[in-house]
Amino acid sequence: MQARVVGCVLAVGSALAMLPWLGLPAFYESFLYLVFHWAVLALSWNILSGYAGYFSFGHGAFFGVGVYTTAVLSGKFDWPFLSTLPFAALLPALLGVGLGIVVFRVKGVRGELFALLTLAVTFVIATIILNTPIDGGPGIYLNAVSTPKIGPNQGSSLYLMALSLLILALLMAYWVKQSKLGLGLFAIHDDEDAAEVMGVPTLGYKLIAFAISCGLAGLAGGVHALLLSYITVGEIFNITVPLTVVLMSVLGGSRHWAGPAVGALVITTLLYGFTASGLAVAGKAAVGFILLVVILFLPDGILGYFMQRARNRLRAANATVDYPESHAGTASSGDVHAEPAPESQVARTFAQPSDVLLRTKALCKAFVGVRALREVSLEIHRGEILGLLGPNGSGKSTFINVVTGHFPMDSGTIEFDGKPLHGLAAHKIAAAGIARTYQIPRPFAHLPVLENVTLTAMFGAGLPRTEAEQHARQWLVFTGLADKAEALPDELNLHQRKFLELARALAAKPKLLLLDEVLSGLNPAEINEAITLIRRIRDQGTTIVFVEHVMRAVTALSDRVAVLNHGELIACGPLEEVMRRPDVVKAYLGESAVVAAP
Ligand code: ADP
Ligand code: MG
Repeated sequence: MQARVVGCVLAVGSALAMLPWLGLPAFYESFLYLVFHWAVLALSWNILSGYAGYFSFGHGAFFGVGVYTTAVLSGKFDWPFLSTLPFAALLPALLGVGLGIVVFRVKGVRGELFALLTLAVTFVIATIILNTPIDGGPGIYLNAVSTPKIGPNQGSSLYLMALSLLILALLMAYWVKQSKLGLGLFAIHDDEDAAEVMGVPTLGYKLIAFAISCGLAGLAGGVHALLLSYITVGEIFNITVPLTVVLMSVLGGSRHWAGPAVGALVITTLLYGFTASGLAVAGKAAVGFILLVVILFLPDGILGYFMQRARNRLRAANATVDYPESHAGTASSGDVHAEPAPESQVARTFAQPSDVLLRTKALCKAFVGVRALREVSLEIHRGEILGLLGPNGSGKSTFINVVTGHFPMDSGTIEFDGKPLHGLAAHKIAAAGIARTYQIPRPFAHLPVLENVTLTAMFGAGLPRTEAEQHARQWLVFTGLADKAEALPDELNLHQRKFLELARALAAKPKLLLLDEVLSGLNPAEINEAITLIRRIRDQGTTIVFVEHVMRAVTALSDRVAVLNHGELIACGPLEEVMRRPDVVKAYLGESAVVAAP
């Protein structure tokens, strides 16, 4: 965490904490209470829904469980108010984790389905509370509950409690954003399956984010119960909370840690202003209008707009930095890089024919109507470059997808570095030392190039952030992308996107690198450049399997080749030997070629 930001939050918080002793009218406290309250709810919602993109419409449920926890414990069981707060946080957090364990595992429940499901949870919980002794219908009174004497009077004590929660929520949102957790959540937002394959423990991260989000909402609920002093299901469990927090986060900017707080300030001020002038309906219309304008002209929200401007400035500054001659502009020039590859991946162990790094046995994978892999048994030797060949649709990409855990296999076994891999989650396979590129590049679209690469350095290679960033920069230099560090992947051409895939895989310091058609679509000069890069990567000790149609590259690079046809491994060995086999010729060129061959 940057001390500057934490210091800033604490300084502003301390200044605001002086307010009750300044003798201002109570109006200020009650207005700011509302701002803080909504800011906490919006910030907490954003930690899962903004960062990871899992839009929840169930925030009212977690807020409501917090309200009712405090209401029941203090109103019915006479617990001192403050002692109820830990439970007002814990119960919603547990509820979120319980719900998450069920729904986060199901790939289909993303996007709108997740939103609907969480909304449904709100109504289920409301029904349970309404029809059980928790409430039972008449509502709960908290008149007899005494407010802790933190400020000069009851209103200011509530104000100070809301302020403390706001500081906690801001620091939490910032901490998550800056941490490894935050980077993982942003990757989940952009491409969850790719994030898992790059080493992000997606299920665990979503659960942690959900727990923090629900816990903070519950805390806000606990304090709010005391302010309301009479609680009913109808008033607590409705669509207002989720809708309002979504509006606030979108308006302020859901990719910025403080965005939801800014949105809360703007919307609460507007609504308060209009309501105070007796124009409550006009206030709602104004909020709707502003939101429309923001979505049209500032799609990333108010703070998102400023973030973009800051990034542009940074890039303009970087553009004036001179990169050494050897890699300036190589991404488009086709020059071969003169600099050595970054620090060796693993100690170079020279290939021994018997030293098997990856062994698959009878690997099978079928899609509906297609047997993409049929009993593929293949050994990949430590330190070699193996060309994986075969016509289109022969199962090459599927082999990579199954080995990296992107798809579960149907049957067979995989052993890597002497340990079984099958059944492991994809992020554990990445951590074991396997990295890949995607045939069609799948960069994290909202993360700048440098963060895309830093991510695998953190999750694959296990480096702490600062080191990971340095490491990532080295690979950007190596692949000729140094001057694109701050660019978004959308701004790269195909060649650069393919090399970003490569840099990202390399930054994971893999023992085994699986390259899926990194050369297709490149011009001859770019292919030469890539061949040199790949050879240099191997020289650093990484074992490489590469899927390729460009025969010049296959000839230049392969120690051995393996050929797939209709999902079956039909040949494996040195290139010249394999290419002389009639069944391989037939697979590539058809029956007539074999007949015509001398
Ligand atoms: P290659 O990479 O060798 O061109 P693939 O491994 O992509 O081939 O595909 C092998 C076969 O599996 C093809 O028939 C393809 O249509 C099918 N296939 C691959 N991925 C999927 C998928 N996700 N869903 C359905 N079928 C798939
Ligand atoms: Mg393919």
